[in-house]
Amino acid sequence: MVDIAIKVDVDAVIVGGGIAGLWTLARLRDEGYSAVLLEDDALGAGQTRYAQGIIHGGTKYALTGKLTASSEAVANMPSIWRACHQGHGELDLRNAAMISDAHYLWSTANLASKITGFFASQVMRARTTALSPEQRPAIFQHKKFKGSIYRLDEPVFDSISILRALAEPVMSSIVAIRKDSMQLQSSSLNVEAVNGDGYEIGFNKLILMAGQGNEALLLSAGLSKPAMQLRPLKMVMMRGGLTEKVFAHCMGAGINPRVTITSHTDSDNNIVWYMGGQLAEDGVHRTDDEQIARAQQELAALIPWQKQDAAQWAILDIDRAEVRHADGHRPDTFYLDQQGDIITAWPTKMALAPLLAQQLLDLVAVSGKTRAELPAWPSPPLAAFPWCEQARWGKA
Ligand SMILES: Cc1cc2nc3c(=O)[nH]c(=O)nc-3n(C[C@H](O)[C@H](O)[C@H](O)COP(=O)(O)OP(=O)(O)OC[C@H]3O[C@@H](n4cnc5c(N)ncnc54)[C@H](O)[C@@H]3O)c2cc1C
Repeated sequence: MVDIAIKVDVDAVIVGGGIAGLWTLARLRDEGYSAVLLEDDALGAGQTRYAQGIIHGGTKYALTGKLTASSEAVANMPSIWRACHQGHGELDLRNAAMISDAHYLWSTANLASKITGFFASQVMRARTTALSPEQRPAIFQHKKFKGSIYRLDEPVFDSISILRALAEPVMSSIVAIRKDSMQLQSSSLNVEAVNGDGYEIGFNKLILMAGQGNEALLLSAGLSKPAMQLRPLKMVMMRGGLTEKVFAHCMGAGINPRVTITSHTDSDNNIVWYMGGQLAEDGVHRTDDEQIARAQQELAALIPWQKQDAAQWAILDIDRAEVRHADGHRPDTFYLDQQGDIITAWPTKMALAPLLAQQLLDLVAVSGKTRAELPAWPSPPLAAFPWCEQARWGKA
């Protein structure tokens, strides 16, 4: 039972401080709505701190030839994020770090002709640029590189710096709450902050954006849908002996990248290669040691000039949380469901947070604006990147 000390009424309560919740909160506050975000761990502690940070522009859908209205909307995401980063977008992300201006697609020599075929199509020509040897990222200027490489207009962001830039200006709206302390009633909830203070918060809309946590929240609200699915990944990290950063999908025979590599820096400023794509999807059936061995083989085959003798390895088991469609197909855009005052949402991709937030804004707007004085409550910390957690490393 929560002991209520303070009552407050707001337009929207958001549960979950990942990219989706924070982007939405920042938009709502900018538009003059009163809104509160509840977080029971650190900001970004869910999937967001594991994200590779690529702001997809729908190239993947173009590759499959399945260009739909939603994939066209995705095509605008890189320019929306870039505008925010340059200070003339819907939010101010000038203090966030763009870690690469572009993402690349490369293929090995034996698949080069297939890739060239893809890129000859008109949809792809608008999205990609073939590179001359001097224009290639440094790692692919090596004389042993025999494949082909294309530049995608897809920037890569440091996801935690994005969360910081979103949260700082609206920190007065963010509450660090005790796990499992939330009790939902109709149009209000009781919750305990980490310092023990109890609040009753009245809302026009309750927005569940707790990633994997949405399932339990729906249950506690007595709702049986929307259904959620978890998609496990076994990501691989490598550091030691790396001098170049890589931001690229390696295309194999299928349309899913054989491996997607992004580069980050750990707390000692070492370069870390973070590997996902098909490697991480297939890896869920392997042990950690088998997955590391597989990553070593892939790198030896794809970037053979990169020495591995000084490398340290680590595995990250992480689930993507998303809506489960009845026909089993994977969502390719964000998902949002409204039942009464309760909205449940998953962005599906970090890149899509702005699109999702816009739709939520439209739903919150229906009830108009209230003015609320917010109390001074405790704020949650920002999560750390997994590659900065020393305990994860150690597999030589
Ligand atoms: C390995 C990996 C790589 C990825 N790479 C990319 C990429 O390159 N580009 C891209 O666009 N997308 C990428 N994604 C997808 C992207 O990370 C997610 O779609 C996005 O981060 C989801 O954000 P979210 O805010 O919905 O959820 P989350 O980031 O999971 O945040 C949910 C938040 O809710 C909090 N929470 C949970 N339960 C409760 C509760 N009961 N009360 C209060 N708070 C609660 C959690 O602590 C957490 O902070 C990647 C995902 C993974 C796993």
